[in-house]
Amino acid sequence: LNRRLDGLGTTIFAEMSALAATTGAINLGQGFPDTDGPEEIREAVVAALRDGHNQYPPGPGIPDLRHAIAEHRQRFYGHLDGRAYDPDTEVLVTTGATEAIAAALLALVEPGDEVVALEPYYDSYAACIAMAGGVRVGVPLRPPTFDLDIDALRAAITPRTRLLMLNTPHNPTGKVLTREELTAVAQLAVEHDLLVITDEVYEHLVFDGEHIPLATLPGMRERTVTISSAGKTFSFTGWKIGWVCATPELVAAVRTTKQFLTYVSGGPFQPAVARALRLPDSYYEGFAADMRAKRDVLVSGLEAAGLTVYRPQGTYFVTTDITPLGFDDGLDFCRKLPELCGVVAVPEKVFFDDTPESQKIGRPLVRFAFCKREVVLREAAERLATLH
Ligand code: PMP
Ligand code: GLN
Repeated sequence: LNRRLDGLGTTIFAEMSALAATTGAINLGQGFPDTDGPEEIREAVVAALRDGHNQYPPGPGIPDLRHAIAEHRQRFYGHLDGRAYDPDTEVLVTTGATEAIAAALLALVEPGDEVVALEPYYDSYAACIAMAGGVRVGVPLRPPTFDLDIDALRAAITPRTRLLMLNTPHNPTGKVLTREELTAVAQLAVEHDLLVITDEVYEHLVFDGEHIPLATLPGMRERTVTISSAGKTFSFTGWKIGWVCATPELVAAVRTTKQFLTYVSGGPFQPAVARALRLPDSYYEGFAADMRAKRDVLVSGLEAAGLTVYRPQGTYFVTTDITPLGFDDGLDFCRKLPELCGVVAVPEKVFFDDTPESQKIGRPLVRFAFCKREVVLREAAERLATLH
């Protein structure tokens, strides 16, 4: 392994899902639902396989999907800025948001550039910044609210800062950035002439507040790469269809790296995701309402089990502090948890920098996923309640 990848051995998701598989514990670790997305969308893949969508699709994605992505964006956010994205030049289909993140960072970061990211950060950000030869600079979000500290963000920006890496709704904290916070981010980006990559894969999972795409704010359209994915919104995490929306120049840059990473993305899934994006508003509302109910079940269960629970405003994750249970290190806790009570969760300290200040925040934090059937969530909470 080259030195750029020091410390990036195995993702915590793989470690924890493997632990769930070997112990048979309830897996509230890696974020994937335990029920699949809509039947009619699954059928659309079957039809695509039968109808011969089995060879390389076009590199930027099939036109129907690019159109559906642009339409979806207009339907949900057009009222915020009244500006459409051109499906031919401003939309790119990727192999999940994961590839979009990698391709965007590899396209836009020069070796030695600083990339400012919210901490805790989704683990692929750190890996891809490192692969691009960039230097990650974290801005911590702190419990209980995980609000963005604008002064800390301002202080993190130096003459070497090239871009900001944003994520809202935020994994793992469940924080949804407010219009005020986003406005402050936008002002700093414009003032320092920074590019921004914003990961909005949980755009349809907001329970309190509103999802505002950063690109809709003044001055941001021309400097923002917006990333999303079908995995979370339609409960098909295994399909790996994501996308990028940005200006033609930025999309061209990301397309350049994408074409040498994967060349193209999942042929038969693309027509099906196009269809999914065109589902009526009732689908999106129902999906968020179901997930909100699951959040409430798990939050109550974890509170009853004695953990400190930071109620998430969005995503399908809840952050807790395990200190009241008599533990102080989330990684140790998560490695023992299957044996102690048959549950798997994810320690958040691995999403924080390896500095004393960052580790102090991250050490006792543990994330639980609630994209599971309610019976499963209740059973997990009962098992956790045996710990105290
Ligand atoms: N970004 C965030 C914040 C995530 O939680 C995830 C996990 N779905 C991804 C990106 C990766 O998305 P995908 O599965 O579409 O590659
Ligand atoms: N995004 C999901 C999570 O945060 C899955 C991550 C993964 O498997 N890489 O749990």
